[in-house]
Amino acid sequence: SQSSYKWRRVLLKVSGEALAGDQEQNIDPKVTMAIAREVAAVTRLGIEVAIVVGGGNIFRGASWAGSSGLDRSSADYIGMLATVMNAIFLQATMESIGIPTRVQTAFRMSEVAEPYIRRRAIRHLEKGRVVIFAAGTGNPFFTTDTAAALRCAEINAEVMLKATNVDGVYSDNPKHNPNATLLETITYQDVMSRELSVMDMTAITLCHENKIPVVVFNLNEPGNISKAIIGERVGTLIGG
Ligand code: UDP
Repeated sequence: SQSSYKWRRVLLKVSGEALAGDQEQNIDPKVTMAIAREVAAVTRLGIEVAIVVGGGNIFRGASWAGSSGLDRSSADYIGMLATVMNAIFLQATMESIGIPTRVQTAFRMSEVAEPYIRRRAIRHLEKGRVVIFAAGTGNPFFTTDTAAALRCAEINAEVMLKATNVDGVYSDNPKHNPNATLLETITYQDVMSRELSVMDMTAITLCHENKIPVVVFNLNEPGNISKAIIGERVGTLIGG
């Protein structure tokens, strides 16, 4: 069904840090429920939603590599497993309010979730199911932002919506520079050359090369997720 909204199919990236909210626990159920409710609202409008979840609230490979002889690849596999925990939690939350949701993992864990199969993911989306992609790209040395850009390109999603704990991209680090301003738009080139630490180079390069617009916005602001998905102006648009 053709909807009158800006995007027909979107890729929502939710970082692990965002899932933690302001809780001591790794996951704040208020945050997962808020995400579920807002996603439910837009899927009812006919917009197809795929999600990539991070794992930084549980385990970040790079910061553990080296401790007790843990090599980077092993650490990164633990990080990817962390994203699966978040994905299953989010799936359960979504299904508790009636949104049919499938988790697909980048490496096989068939008792727990479907393996990633591109055409199958697309089919789920066409049927109105939400698809959560877990385990990142399945490869160490990458990030879930890169996984988000990759899946976005693979399933022909029209935009990558990066839900974070900040309002968007600033002209400078607002913690150090009181005159830093929130940018409405910025080019891929500027993000790369000014090292604004919005996302890693691999991810931003992939978006640039495939002309995937990226919207960076704050998920703690109620209504922002649905606004971003229906294409209302929120946060910062990276493009050009
Ligand atoms: N990771 C990985 N390959 C990927 C995606 C993630 O090895 O393709 C690992 C990596 O160790 C990373 C962790 O999973 O630190 C959690 O992902 P990320 O840090 O991207 O999560 P976020 O910052 O979004 O919470």
